[in-house]
Amino acid sequence: MVKYELPRLPYAYDELEPYIDKQTMEIHHKKHHQAYVDGLNRALAKISSEFHPKYITSILSDLNAIPESARSEINFFGGGFENHKLFWEIMTPKNNGRPDGKLSDSIDVYFDNFENFKKEFSNKAMSIEGSGWCWLVFNQTFNKIEIVTTTNQDSPWSIRKIPLLGLDLWEHAYYLKYQNRRLDYIAAWWNVLNWDYVENRFSELID
Ligand code: MN
Repeated sequence: MVKYELPRLPYAYDELEPYIDKQTMEIHHKKHHQAYVDGLNRALAKISSEFHPKYITSILSDLNAIPESARSEINFFGGGFENHKLFWEIMTPKNNGRPDGKLSDSIDVYFDNFENFKKEFSNKAMSIEGSGWCWLVFNQTFNKIEIVTTTNQDSPWSIRKIPLLGLDLWEHAYYLKYQNRRLDYIAAWWNVLNWDYVENRFSELID
């Protein structure tokens, strides 16, 4: 049976300081993400092993195929597992300011320019009520990029969109440092984006 494990962070807990503090990173990774890993393994243990060979993004893309008894748990914990895995990867202490190449071109086409994209993304992130995520996704059906939000740990894969980058807007992601100042957290987060990683992810999809 496939057993999911907590992915290693590609940097140390304190390396995203001062934008995201060490204590938040450590609790977020070791406690919250671990809880999604454990929950996903528990939920998968309940269903027939025929679903297990599929990677979690394939499972999330077709939740209706999952027996109803485990569906909502797999949606929640599987989404939580995969959302956080991507969240760590799209951040870096070595931020290079902004994307270039094909992603930059696409941002200019759909959002006019990078500054306007940041503004639209931030506004959408601010509009989430309760806990959720804000995403830049690739919409394969229309071959375009879009900003979407999901609630709780729902995954973009479940709405047939491929996440390019995502921002965690659960309070556990920012409350220790920013308390209720969600906008300050969002503004700080742009300073730790790994645009090389996001650009590569996008290039692989469109080539
Ligand atoms: Mn989180």
